[in-house]
Amino acid sequence: MDHLEIPLNIYQQIPEGIRNLSPTEVRRIFPHPTIIRLKGRDPKPLFLSFLLHANEQSSFFVLQKLHKYISENELPRDLIIFVGNVYAAEKNKRFLEDQQDYNRIWQEGKTAEHYLAKRVLDYAKTQGPLFASIDVHNNTGANPHYGCINKLDREYIYLASLFAKTMVYFRNPGTVQSVAFAELCPSVTLECGQSGDAQGIERAFQLIVDCLNLETLDHPSPSSDVHIFHTQGQIKIADGVDYSFSDREADLIFPKEFEKLNFSPLPEGFTFAQYSGDGFPLHVFNDAGEEISSEFFVKRGDRIEMKKEAFASMFTTHREVIAQDCLGYLMEELEL
Ligand SMILES: [Zn+2]
Repeated sequence: MDHLEIPLNIYQQIPEGIRNLSPTEVRRIFPHPTIIRLKGRDPKPLFLSFLLHANEQSSFFVLQKLHKYISENELPRDLIIFVGNVYAAEKNKRFLEDQQDYNRIWQEGKTAEHYLAKRVLDYAKTQGPLFASIDVHNNTGANPHYGCINKLDREYIYLASLFAKTMVYFRNPGTVQSVAFAELCPSVTLECGQSGDAQGIERAFQLIVDCLNLETLDHPSPSSDVHIFHTQGQIKIADGVDYSFSDREADLIFPKEFEKLNFSPLPEGFTFAQYSGDGFPLHVFNDAGEEISSEFFVKRGDRIEMKKEAFASMFTTHREVIAQDCLGYLMEELEL
């Protein structure tokens, strides 16, 4: 296993040099994945996870703001910060070709990245009960800011509601950081808009400051104010299907403003795509990995229509994301 091992550094402070760096220069201060362990007044640590997807740069800017905050204020609570895929951050990539996705490694697995995640998780477990865990991400589509939770307990909902009133509940994929940490403490993944979005950075930072100062997350959230969506299916394009988001000639053509559909209802009868090829070009997989596309879509002539209403999330037009991950998710709104 030794030759596979990814180094994991442990620091006792955020290096001063972070002030003037850009995200692609991160390895000047974090040559390898790093845990930063900071002592504060309240010893129950807040866990932060940054740069798991290394082209989602907002978490780097949050870390810069946090460095400034800590240099000006006494830290109200212990902090554990994991700075993840610095190798891919250097190249502004989600992850490198020879790597695993750093946000799909938080369950048992045999790769060097899985072993790294296990060491981080084991370390966090030795630091006593955690106050909460916050994993900071961006997405590529036109999405509002929202938090993802993996348990519907009120501390989890309250934590996410401090960031945004819209939230997504999911259990799949179960290999993400927030699912693993949800077993230890209230846990949230923040989707802070597109990489570098200033308002998203500010909101994430404010949530962290709130969590440093709050004594408990055990508060009710006003249900009229909070919208929780549950992912029902992950949409993938079938292998080998030629697709397009413009008028370009392709067998499968999605609407031009595809990313603007995020968090809006796709009503029954809505034309999801045009398709002129053979067979059915889309897969929808539920949490159990079962194909459920016929529950959501119906083909009428060359139109693929919604068979029942669903909400869109994480819809993206980025071919790299579509190939590595998916086209997006279909959701229902939960009544709480
Ligand atoms: Zn991400």
